[in-house]
Amino acid sequence: MKAGKICFKCKQRAPNYCNKQDKVCKPCFMDSVVHRFKSSLRTNLKIWKDDLNLICVSGGSASMALLDLMHNALFGDEESAAEGVVKVSQRKLFFRVHVLHVDEGRAVYGWSEEFHRQQIEMIKRLCEEKYKFTYTIVPIEAVFDILPASLDVRMPSPQEKEKLLQERKMDEVNHAT
Ligand SMILES: [Zn+2]
Repeated sequence: MKAGKICFKCKQRAPNYCNKQDKVCKPCFMDSVVHRFKSSLRTNLKIWKDDLNLICVSGGSASMALLDLMHNALFGDEESAAEGVVKVSQRKLFFRVHVLHVDEGRAVYGWSEEFHRQQIEMIKRLCEEKYKFTYTIVPIEAVFDILPASLDVRMPSPQEKEKLLQERKMDEVNHAT
């Protein structure tokens, strides 16, 4: 392939996007987005290991993209290693994420029961199966008068808790100077 017809980063794949003069392929573009996201978590938000971050999601594309980036920042290296992709090791971030969804679909937007159910299921499924984040779903009606029974909380399992504890120990060992 001629220069200009290949990605300027990996110099292998055909480019998908163009940023000024630079043509970049999709995997390299996503790598740079995740990299910038991770460094801004550290430098701008000062998120450090063990910090518990509450991520509020509406279920729309912007907040779900944020959730995906959070997951990628935490587990992206592991997943690419599992897929056999060897990447330059990036310093791991060991913060924790809890997802909050204030359910306003019925009361505010007047969604149908069916559409509302699908939205809630989508958020639950992503948190439980894809991201493995704990979550809380609160109906907006309960926000002003919260009753414990109205909270739907999924806490980490004993195995997940043990894994988190081990990872934190390893992180301390790795970052001891
Ligand atoms: Zn590339």
